[in-house]
Amino acid sequence: MQKLKQQVFDANMDLPRNGLVTFTWGNASAIDRERGLVVIKPSGIAYGNMKSDDMVVVDLQGNRVEGPWCPSSDTATHLALYRRYPQLGGVVHTHSTYATAWAQAGLAIPALGTTHADYFFGDIPCTRALSEEEVQEEYELNTGKVIVETLGTSDPLHTPGIVVYQHGPFTWGKDAADAVHHAVVMEAVARMAWIARSINPALKPIDTYLMNKHFMRKHGPNAYYGQ
Ligand SMILES: [Zn+2]
Repeated sequence: MQKLKQQVFDANMDLPRNGLVTFTWGNASAIDRERGLVVIKPSGIAYGNMKSDDMVVVDLQGNRVEGPWCPSSDTATHLALYRRYPQLGGVVHTHSTYATAWAQAGLAIPALGTTHADYFFGDIPCTRALSEEEVQEEYELNTGKVIVETLGTSDPLHTPGIVVYQHGPFTWGKDAADAVHHAVVMEAVARMAWIARSINPALKPIDTYLMNKHFMRKHGPNAYYGQ
C-alpha cells in the first residue's frame, strides 16, 4: 500500500508539473485489484504541502480505510470507473485548458492526425449533459455513470479518456502514471485540433487507414512500436 500511495502521490504531483492543474483542480488515483482498495488524493490539499502519507485509501464503495483526510470530492466518479472496467489501474481528472474548452463547447475532440491516433482510437467522446436531478443527487456517481454510458461497448483502453460536458477531461490507464500520460496527450491533441480547425474549418477527420495503422502498431495484437 505504501508503494501505491507513492505512485498516486507522484501521479498527482505530475499534474501541475505538466501544466494540467491550477490550484487544486485535479486528482489522480490508482487501485490495488487484489485487495479491492483505491488510493486517491485528499480533498482540497494544496499540491505544495502534500506528502505521500496524505493519500487516502478507500474501498470500492467509498468507505475510508486509511489516511488522515477526506478523499477527493470526485472519488465516487473514480470508483464507478474502477467497478465497471476491471482493466483500469489508474484514473486522472483535471480541468486542463484545451480539453476543458472542448467539454464546454460540448464537442468530442476529433481524431485529426497521428498524434491523436497513437493513443485514442477515434474521437475522444463528449458526454451528454447531466439532468438537474442527476446533478442534485449523487452528482459525482452520476458523472461516472454518464462516462460509462457514453463509452458504451468501446474498449476503455482504446478510448483512454473522455470529456464530460461543461466540465472537463477524465483519463485512465493501466496504472496512475499511464492515466497521467493520457491526460497530457489529451491536452496536446485538444490544442492541436483547435488550431487545425481554426486554420481550416472544413478539414476532414484522419483517414481511417492511417488511424488504424498508428493505433494498431502501438496497441494491436501485433504491436511493433517501441522496444
Ligand atoms: Zn472537475
